[in-house]
Amino acid sequence: MRPFPLLSASLIAFAAAVSTGAIATAQPAARAPAAPQVPSQLPRNVRPLHYTIAATPDARNLRFTGSVQIDIEVLQPTDRIVLNAVDMTFSRVTLDGAGQGRATMDEDAQTATLRFADMIRPGRHRLSIDYSGKIYTQAAGFFALDYTADGGPKRALFTQFEAPDARRFFPGWDEPNFRTPYDLSVTIPAGQQAIGNMPEERRTRNADGTVTVTFRTTPAMSSYLLFLAIGELDRITTRSAGVEVGVVTRRGAGEQGRWALQSAARILPWYNQYFGTPYPLPKLDNVAGPGTSQFFGAMENWGAIFSFENILLVDPAITTPERQQRIFEVAAHEMAHQWFGDLVTMAWWDDLWLNEGFASWMATKATQALHPEWEPLLGRIGGREQAIQLDSLRTTHPVVQHVTTVEQISQAFDSITYEKGEAVITMLEDYVGETAWRDGVRAYIRQHRLGNTVTDDLWRAVERAANRPITAIAHDFTLRPGVPLIRVTGARCVGGRTQVSLAQGQFSRDNPQAAGRWRVPVIAAAGGAPARTLVQNGAATSAVPGCGTLVVNYGQTGYYRTLYAAPLLAAITRNYARLRPLDQIGLLADNWSLGLAGYQDADLALNLVRAAPENGNPRLLTRMAGIFGQINGMYAEDGAHRAMLGRFAFAKLEPAMRRLGWTPRRGEPANDAVLRNDLIETLGELGHPATIAEANRRFGANDPSVQAGPLRSTILGIVAYNADEATWERFRRMARDERSPVVRVQLYQLLGGVKDERLARRALELALTDEVGATNASQIFGAVAAEHPDLAFDYAVAHRCQVEPLVDASSRSRFFARLAGGSADPAMVDKLNDYATRYLTPQSRGEVDRAIAGISDRLRVRRERLPQITRWLEAWRGA
Ligand SMILES: [Zn+2]
Repeated sequence: MRPFPLLSASLIAFAAAVSTGAIATAQPAARAPAAPQVPSQLPRNVRPLHYTIAATPDARNLRFTGSVQIDIEVLQPTDRIVLNAVDMTFSRVTLDGAGQGRATMDEDAQTATLRFADMIRPGRHRLSIDYSGKIYTQAAGFFALDYTADGGPKRALFTQFEAPDARRFFPGWDEPNFRTPYDLSVTIPAGQQAIGNMPEERRTRNADGTVTVTFRTTPAMSSYLLFLAIGELDRITTRSAGVEVGVVTRRGAGEQGRWALQSAARILPWYNQYFGTPYPLPKLDNVAGPGTSQFFGAMENWGAIFSFENILLVDPAITTPERQQRIFEVAAHEMAHQWFGDLVTMAWWDDLWLNEGFASWMATKATQALHPEWEPLLGRIGGREQAIQLDSLRTTHPVVQHVTTVEQISQAFDSITYEKGEAVITMLEDYVGETAWRDGVRAYIRQHRLGNTVTDDLWRAVERAANRPITAIAHDFTLRPGVPLIRVTGARCVGGRTQVSLAQGQFSRDNPQAAGRWRVPVIAAAGGAPARTLVQNGAATSAVPGCGTLVVNYGQTGYYRTLYAAPLLAAITRNYARLRPLDQIGLLADNWSLGLAGYQDADLALNLVRAAPENGNPRLLTRMAGIFGQINGMYAEDGAHRAMLGRFAFAKLEPAMRRLGWTPRRGEPANDAVLRNDLIETLGELGHPATIAEANRRFGANDPSVQAGPLRSTILGIVAYNADEATWERFRRMARDERSPVVRVQLYQLLGGVKDERLARRALELALTDEVGATNASQIFGAVAAEHPDLAFDYAVAHRCQVEPLVDASSRSRFFARLAGGSADPAMVDKLNDYATRYLTPQSRGEVDRAIAGISDRLRVRRERLPQITRWLEAWRGA
């Protein structure tokens, strides 16, 4: 799964009571032995062997009827069977075609208990259930997405089962360790299409004019990977490595999937080669859903990836160059899961990180191989920074976290799981070497295919391939929370080598006493070949060839902060313009963050910014732009200081903007096209008069660049941000009249991204009307929160009963907390606590605690660190 970058999610109260008992050691059908102890929320006396599911949706009334036959194996005599089921009514339950069962639903535990008159003998049985269930309007379980086409309203249906929402579609054993084959059939109106994990087996026409589509049997797989889509659909296909690759869209939008289709066709053979096991299914679709979710962007259902349209389709009217790269990267992530997650699956959600960290890492690797011109390794530093941001506060958690409730499963989808996961894998791959790592992965896939694993299975496979221990290091980084700090305490030149002294501590933004210990693989370079050392027991020395500028974490593959003694940082600053872009970006990120946290002066990073080359790497300029945006936010309403920051920022960014110009050039480097949008956006945000004037001019003149093309959303973003009432109303008309769902979502978001608080409030009011559509409304809240977090949170809480239905059931507690996360108002801490006390259980307040920690840190930075930044900017002006 790929989370949506803006907001993410989790359940509220109803999940708190999910049973955590019944941990047993029975082995399920997995071919390879899995964990010795796999947690379960279901008794282990019965296990499923095979499902046959038939569903008939009533899309108009948001209901469906279903029947399921489950071949089961009973391991001990019992008079009852407990399985997962939510929001369902059972009309008939039989065992082996006779024995009528009585069902009792437990809403809190999300289970059904089926009781039978006679004891059930151990051995094989067939359980049959006829039932009816709900079609939801948010993206969890079986859900509807509405859109407009051919001048009329349309409704398409999809499923989303990760983490535990298959239980909303069929009663069953909804835990990843129960792998079984699935036979799925669905009855749909004539003229509609259905897509499943597997190709169609047959299609029969019914007397009432409906059509029943039966899909081929899936391989044994986990319930969260089952998929179904129904609607008026187009499917474009190509063949790649003997597999039919497809992109499925709403009817008429097929060509917008061409870029994703070509991308998938290139990625598939590359993965076949990397994993050493060919893609095992006959087809691989990527299915586009109109609309959005706060919780996720895309999902790796086996053979039928689901993606929301805005990260799958290229709409020439609005798609930016950055988004086009992201479409590739998201497809690469979901496709990596087809092996790592689908073919081999974690035994339990504790190891979710292994799925997600690995898929994120693999996506970067595939992108580097197939699109090196995008420089994804430079972009990866952004992910590391996101992870450190969370991991350097007391509210963090280890990468491997014990999960017992549905609530915790949902909260596990965060930057620690994804981005720290990727960073740790990056570091370990670098430690053992690319080839040994790949061989380990190949062995792991071969050994565990169609099975379930725990994290240590991967470490063992890599250790064998590399003939080198890594488990101890891996455990340090995955079982302990927090970020190591490597202090470079000294360096002197001896006989053409730099003798470096390193000391290891912990980097924390809110706990100066933090003193964790890690074994940290460190690479350093000083103008010659890089040298590697393992820092253990808190210290190490290293003899690094050469006596040039010393860079520790050379290549930026390590997950730690590097703090240099003052003379060493001064040397880096002097030579900054000559370092590799990768290290320039990493050093800037490190020093900016160390300064804000108080490990060194806050202005030292600004010396690096000043030293950065005028025409530096686009990704370096983007990082600088991000720092300017952050300082701008710290000055809040302080116009004089914002203007002072502006003068420095403009001096650094204008040369690149002049070079790039407003008009994309044919054949320009891909990242120049990305940078152009970034620069226009940042300059607009910082109040750069010429940029705002040009954006307004183009908008006023209805310039072609505002009607369609790569700059459109960026220009509209600036105009919308600065909008007055008349302009805002014009945006609203544009949104209302827009026919493309992809463009429409963005236009409604723009209505929320407005500086004027009065208009932002109107956007929130609009979000609660029927006009914007059930799945787009929460995006407006997210957009308002970016500029007015306090307003967005207060309004959402005040209208809680109207807002909650607009958010996936599993996203609600996180949704509210994230709205407030950007606040710098001390009063928000109490408001969040009050919200949590009223509406959340102790288990579900994790996101609230993280928001509070982030706000407290933001207030500290403004109080303690900003004055130094201000003094530096004043001095720069004077210089
Ligand atoms: Zn994923």
